[in-house]
Amino acid sequence: MNEKNMEIPLVDPACYAAATAAIRAEASRLLEAGEVAAVVGYRAGRRAGTVMPEVAVCAAAVAQLLFSPGCQHNLTLFLSKAKRDALPKGKVAIVVKGCDLRALAGLISESQLKRDDVHVIGVACPGVYGANADQTRPLNADTVARKCRECKVHLPEGVDLVAGTLPALADLPALEAQEMARLEAMSAQERWAFWTEQFSRCIRCLACRQVCPFCFCTQCLCDRNRPQAVDTSPRPAGSTAWHLVRAMHLAGRCSGCAECERVCPMDIPLNLLNRKMAQELFELYGFEAGMQSQEQGVLTSYRNDDDQSFIK
Ligand code: SF4
Ligand code: SF4
Ligand code: SF4
Repeated sequence: MNEKNMEIPLVDPACYAAATAAIRAEASRLLEAGEVAAVVGYRAGRRAGTVMPEVAVCAAAVAQLLFSPGCQHNLTLFLSKAKRDALPKGKVAIVVKGCDLRALAGLISESQLKRDDVHVIGVACPGVYGANADQTRPLNADTVARKCRECKVHLPEGVDLVAGTLPALADLPALEAQEMARLEAMSAQERWAFWTEQFSRCIRCLACRQVCPFCFCTQCLCDRNRPQAVDTSPRPAGSTAWHLVRAMHLAGRCSGCAECERVCPMDIPLNLLNRKMAQELFELYGFEAGMQSQEQGVLTSYRNDDDQSFIK
């Protein structure tokens, strides 16, 4: 794609405005009828084009709710038991994109909440900005998130309302699939060298943990110092151990929202690792996380016909 084509907007911005109007109308109705105590959604951030989470409890806050390409956050983060204290007591409504819904299903299957505890406002989502995108520019082939290029869930299913309608979408090259193919083509030694180089840049800021809907342990194993399981300083051995623990703890649970990768200040391709783990679990057990809300986690269940060829 040449530079000129990259500036062409992927979709008519009016589709975001239509979704915004539908979210506000539904939020107003729910709060006025007393059906929910709050609506968890998005509002404009401080800088142009940016967005931040909003917990709307009154008409003035509802008027600020919006949907735009800046709505990258996976708001289901607020629904785990550990984080729900940030929300008013009672049933809440939440704005979710199709990719966020898998996290919601996962949280329900891990008994973090019940489906009846939440009113789900799904959004017809053409795409959002990727990490480090200039959010003052339109959403185009250059600024769209890589996950959106391969999205199969633009229209969320099983929600209480779908806000907006989906416009025609451009067919873009699948960069994540290409990156996975490059990884697959490496030898085991090359892969180890690749990942240790990536992990060596980690500064252990733990933004990836803070933003993940599934990192809800009240005390992370990686913070413990009596006894210390993982060196907490950003040295290569400790950082590699942190990433291995993280990958294993999220295997079969990660919904692939790519929020960890988006917030990483060191540009570590965390979602490539997440996707690789998900691919392994699919090939071994035919399991995909977050596809059903009542599923049992693949690493917490056992079947007689499970593949055991990896046990040497
Ligand atoms: S992956 Fe799909 S649902 Fe998620 S933000 Fe991108 S386009 Fe929207
Ligand atoms: S966000 Fe990036 S730098 Fe920070 S701990 Fe996670 S991987 Fe390391
Ligand atoms: S590990 Fe990353 S991609 Fe997976 S659910 Fe957590 S934040 Fe999302």
